[in-house]
Amino acid sequence: MSAVPLVGARASRLQERTVSVLGATGSIGSSTVDLLRRNRAHYRVEAVTAGRNAAALAALAKEFGARFAAVADESAYGALKDALAGTGIAAGAGKAALVEAAQRPADWVMAAITGAASLEPTLAAAERGAVVALANKECLVCAGPLFMKRAAAAGATVLPVDSEHNAVFQSLGAGERGCVRRIILTASGGPFRSWSLDAIRKATVEQALKHPNWSMGAKITIDSASMMNKGLEIIEAHHLFEAPPDEIDVLVHPQSIVHGMVEFKDGSVVAQLGPPDMRVPIAHCLAWPTRIEGANRLRLDQLANLTFEEPDETRFPALRLAKAALRTGAGAPTVLNAANEVAVAAFLERRVGFTDIAALVEATLDAASARGILADPADVAAALALDRTARSLARELLPEIAAKAI
Ligand code: NAD
Ligand code: MG
Repeated sequence: MSAVPLVGARASRLQERTVSVLGATGSIGSSTVDLLRRNRAHYRVEAVTAGRNAAALAALAKEFGARFAAVADESAYGALKDALAGTGIAAGAGKAALVEAAQRPADWVMAAITGAASLEPTLAAAERGAVVALANKECLVCAGPLFMKRAAAAGATVLPVDSEHNAVFQSLGAGERGCVRRIILTASGGPFRSWSLDAIRKATVEQALKHPNWSMGAKITIDSASMMNKGLEIIEAHHLFEAPPDEIDVLVHPQSIVHGMVEFKDGSVVAQLGPPDMRVPIAHCLAWPTRIEGANRLRLDQLANLTFEEPDETRFPALRLAKAALRTGAGAPTVLNAANEVAVAAFLERRVGFTDIAALVEATLDAASARGILADPADVAAALALDRTARSLARELLPEIAAKAI
């Protein structure tokens, strides 16, 4: 990662940038689009992608005069092509089209597809040396060492969009990397922060989707409720900042104002604060190394207090599982991520209860270990193969976990 600007440097002029937005119709995608809309003179949109919402994607492509639009779901291709007829905007569908969108010549690529499905397109952007604004964390959990190695070899710049990592990235600019004592990620604690384990066990989909501070896509909202999100973020921080697991701490901070901190060996703790609005870190990445208008001002005078507490791994076992997977290393984080994606989807479909999410992840990790399939994936194809194997293992174990809960 390149250095941050010199202290006291005058704001540099924002150069015109070509950008592509992968996952343009999602929560992060929409916040990115909002910033592009408000800073139109500086950005030209090359490509946009979505899962299956052809109408929304075509509208965005037309609004910004993109050159290429692609949907992941091939059955949405006809609708996309029709909606773009006569505009001169090329349409694509399927995995290869997502990779093509990432390969198109944009200076800057927002990686905001959800889940491990983001790995190949995000890697395609990194491998041509682009500036990659990385919102998606699952690709680093699935194949972190491989992703970072290939991004570095291609001379790509990876900018962290995840609010905690963006905060750490900004805070790291205050000192030399070798002088860091600890990296601290904050967590809101989610909707069940103060609930008993018994109440959490009975949590409904609606309750889990009601995040107290952030408005996000469904998968990450459930991950926040289980605190698996923080577990994934520890693994993400490990890869982004080359930080050993013992150097990364989590503090529950229900107000979501301090997003991340870096403690240096002289005792200084440098933090980044901001409103709980993803437009802040996205704007930071969009304009980096300069700044653009992002979100409304943070009004500290209107806040009663800022509190911090230790996370509870008994009520939130997902955090413990993610830490253990990081320590185990090799294929364990890949399996953790895949099993979690299956478990969250099953919970959203009301096929398992809330606490079954962590139970299924743990059972899948145990089964994968017993079958001896946790070896370090040698390349991206091996990581994706392990991801697929872990998903089928999790699906096999799902009925047993669901039955146990009754
Ligand atoms: P979302 O569900 O709102 O949007 C996801 C986007 O990806 C949509 O455009 C969707 O159409 C597309 N998509 C979904 N599945 C796909 C697939 N299989 N192939 C291709 N495209 C697909 O999700 P989000 O909340 O915007 O999160 C996106 C990523 O950013 C996630 O990895 C999440 O962990 C990360 N992130 C999100 C937030 C947030 O505030 N929302 C914060 C930090 C990190
Ligand atoms: Mg985060």
